[in-house]
Amino acid sequence: SSPTSSQSVVVLGATGSIGRSTLDVIRASNGTFTPFALSAHGRLEELLEAAIEYRPRYIVASDEAGAAKFDWSKLPAETTLLTGTAGLQEVASHKEADIVVSAIVGRAGLEGTFAAIAAGKRVALANKETLVVAGHLATKLAAESGAEILPVDSEHSAIFQALKAGRNVDVRRVILTASGGPFRQLSQQQLLEVTAEQALDHPTWKMGPKITVDSATMMNKALEIIETKWLFDLSAEQIEVVVHPQSIVHSLVEFVDGSVVAQMSPPDMRMPIQLAMTYPERTECPAKALDMTQAFSLEFEPPDYERFPALKLGKEVVQRGGTTGAVLNAANEVAVQRFLEGKIRFVDIYRVCRAILDEHPFELSPDLNRLLELDAWAREESDKWITCCLRQAKD
Ligand code: NAD
Ligand code: MG
Repeated sequence: SSPTSSQSVVVLGATGSIGRSTLDVIRASNGTFTPFALSAHGRLEELLEAAIEYRPRYIVASDEAGAAKFDWSKLPAETTLLTGTAGLQEVASHKEADIVVSAIVGRAGLEGTFAAIAAGKRVALANKETLVVAGHLATKLAAESGAEILPVDSEHSAIFQALKAGRNVDVRRVILTASGGPFRQLSQQQLLEVTAEQALDHPTWKMGPKITVDSATMMNKALEIIETKWLFDLSAEQIEVVVHPQSIVHSLVEFVDGSVVAQMSPPDMRMPIQLAMTYPERTECPAKALDMTQAFSLEFEPPDYERFPALKLGKEVVQRGGTTGAVLNAANEVAVQRFLEGKIRFVDIYRVCRAILDEHPFELSPDLNRLLELDAWAREESDKWITCCLRQAKD
C-alpha cells in the first residue's frame, strides 16, 4: 500500500487492556490506521459494540460455543463474523491486513501470532507468551517470511528504542526495569497471606488479571527475560533486572563504554503500542508525555530473589532452552488461574512452576506440535500436583 493510504489493522484480543488501548490509538490516528478485524473470546457484547463503532471487515469470536449462543442480529451488514482459532488465523494472515496487533493473553495467542508471522506481516507483539513458549520457532519463521516483530511490551519497546544509540555488537547488557508489583515491600511471612484481590491491585499499571498476578510474583519479569532473549538475540548473562517502582524508566541499554541509554515516559501502553504501529515514524500520541515542570524522583533497587523466586526462572529458561519455556508458561497459567480462584496460595504459584519444570521430559529441539503437546501435559500435571502434593504438604 502507498504511504498515504490507511493501514489495515487486525487486533487479536480487542476487548482486553492492550486491545482497548490499541483502539484508542487507532481512533486518535485520524484515519492513518483502520480496524480491519477485531477478536474477542468472552465479553462478546463488547466485541459487538466495537463492531458497531468501528465497522471492521471481520470480527472473530474465538470461543465457538460462546459465539453460537450469542445474538448477532445487531452486527453491521458489512462485518463478517468468523469463529474459532481458524478465524483468528484467517484474519491474521489476510492479504489485506497490514499490521497484526497480537494482544490475546497466554498460550491462546500463539496460533494467531504464528499465522501473522508466517504471512510476513508487521506484528505488534504484546503476547509475550508466544516467544516464551516457542521463541526459537517464531523468530526463525519471521526470518524466513520477512515478518517484522515489533515489541509492544513497554520494557522491550524501551530496549528497541535505546538500541538505536549504538551498534548491537557494542551492547554490554540490557537492564529490564520492574515495578516490583503490589507486594514489593512485604516480608516473606506476609506473602504467605496475600489474597487475589490484593494481587490484582497494581500500583502503576492497569492491566488484565493474568499479567497483573505475574507482575506480583515477578514471573512477568522472568517471562520478559525470555522475551528479551528472542527479540534481541542476547545471552542470559547480558540480561539484568532492576526494580524501579515509578515505572517511568521502561528499561536501559548499557554499551561497552559504560554509557547507559534509557527510555522514559509515564506508564501508558498507548505509547509503545503506537510506536510498534508507526515505526520508523513517530506521531502525536494520546498518551501524555512526562511533565518536567513538576518535581518527581526515580528510584532503583536490586530485586530480591528470596521473596520473588519466580524471577530466577527467566534466566534458567534462557540458559536451558528447548521445552522449558513452554512448560513453565503452561504451569504458570494454571497456577495463576488456581490462585485467582482461591484454590492455592500466592507463594504456591512458584512451587507449582518449579515442580512441573523439574519433572518434565526435557527436549532440546522440539517442534511446534511437541511444544503444544507438552503445554497440554504441563497443564494436567500442574492440576495433579496441586491436588496431590500441595494437599499432602498442608497435612
Ligand atoms: P486481558 O485479559 O485484558 O485481555 C485478553 C484478551 O484476550 C481479551 O480480548 C480476551 O477476549 C482475549 N482472550 C482471552 N482468552 C482467550 C482465548 N482462550 N482465546 C482467544 N482470545 C482470548 O489481557 P491484557 O492485559 O490486555 O494482556 C494481553 C497480552 O499483552 C498478554 O500477553 C500480556 O502479557 C501482554 N501485555 C499486556 C500489558 C498490559 O498493560 N495490559 C503490558 C505488556 C504486555
Ligand atoms: Mg512489560
